[in-house]
Amino acid sequence: MEKDSQLNSDLADELDVARKRISQLEDLVGRCAATEETLLQSNEILHTLIDASPVAVINLDPQGRVLMWNKAAETTFGWQANEAIGSFNPIVPEDRKVEFEKIRELAMQGPLTGIEIKRRKKDGSPIDLSLSTAAISDPKGVITGYIAMFLDISARKKAEEELERSHSRLEELVRERTSELRQANEKLSKYSEELESSNRGLEQFAYMASHDLQAPLLAIATNLKMFLRRYREKLDEGTEKFLSDAVDSAIRMQNFIRGLLAYSRTGTRELELKRTDSALALDTALGNLASMIKETGAVITRDKLPVLHTDPSQLPHIFQNLIGNAIKFHGNGPPRAHVSANKQTDPGTGKKVWVFSVKDNGIGIPPEAKDVIFDIFKRLKSGGRYPGAGIGLATCKRIIERLGGSIRVESEAGKGSVFYFHLPAGDE
Ligand code: ADP
Repeated sequence: MEKDSQLNSDLADELDVARKRISQLEDLVGRCAATEETLLQSNEILHTLIDASPVAVINLDPQGRVLMWNKAAETTFGWQANEAIGSFNPIVPEDRKVEFEKIRELAMQGPLTGIEIKRRKKDGSPIDLSLSTAAISDPKGVITGYIAMFLDISARKKAEEELERSHSRLEELVRERTSELRQANEKLSKYSEELESSNRGLEQFAYMASHDLQAPLLAIATNLKMFLRRYREKLDEGTEKFLSDAVDSAIRMQNFIRGLLAYSRTGTRELELKRTDSALALDTALGNLASMIKETGAVITRDKLPVLHTDPSQLPHIFQNLIGNAIKFHGNGPPRAHVSANKQTDPGTGKKVWVFSVKDNGIGIPPEAKDVIFDIFKRLKSGGRYPGAGIGLATCKRIIERLGGSIRVESEAGKGSVFYFHLPAGDE
């Protein structure tokens, strides 16, 4: 009896334990089901995400067979998922098989990013892609395949190629232009050499011609004058006028030749720079102009003039031309000219220069003629009251530029002119 009751109690305990285990198992089954549902949900989310992705994503097994092919892969490559899954990667053309094998091997070892590859779509059209991969392994760590993600970079590639083409075209153009420029430069320096030598020749010719012409002209003028003096009483009025005109023409011609000679000499003569008193140079010029000054009653005044380092034989020519013009192109009153000088710093070179000015009360120069008057043979008034050959200012300009300076004029028609020229001060 006692034995029976002990047995019953043991059985009841065991039953209790069994019930507890069943309840635990039921609990476990319940939790497993929940986990499975969560897993299924995650899987669903993952698939939705992959399908919604704008990036073409495919999953390949270790041999390269397609296991998964998302929607973006369908639009990118043209093959539908059901055509691609189960087969070998359809986007790899025959000539890219070796490259694909290499990528496959590397992708199974570790992630790859941004590899640029070329593939063909189902319709045969080419496509440029940027490929990134990630290997997939099972819970035991065994690699079971890999995911490949493709970004269509055809537009960027096209733009890059276009840029490359433009760049090459630009380089080609630059090369062409540089060579054209070089050729033009070579031609130019050849021309300038030829020009220089022809200029030298011309200068020599002008010098020789004017030098050789002087003597016969002088003889003509002198003989005509003597003839006139000796036979004046025997000549009728008309013949005397012809002969006087001929003498005038010969004198004009002589002056012209003298001017030309002076001009050509300024280009050929060696410069001799030394301590030069500009006041003495002005005295020389005024001495040469003495008869003109006397005839016209011109008054020439001056400020204190400097000593500078320049060619002493050239400075009187400049003063003589400028003051000669101031007297020649005078207005209604008696001619007046004033010479002054002041020291300045040349803004271009930073060196000290003497700026001379010759101011007159003459007829003035219209603004549009301010530059042309320095060209040879350029005259604003000709013959009659204002004789000349249009060589004086061109000679001044040439001398001054050879001495390292420049010349300009400030004037207003009818209100007189101021000619400014500067020369390097040197080591006065
Ligand atoms: P030329 O005196 O022989 O005519 P220049 O070369 O000395 O030649 O001068 C050129 C021209 O510039 C002159 O014909 C004249 O028209 C003008 N010119 C020069 N200096 C003056 C001046 N001081 N006043 C007015 N015009 C001038």
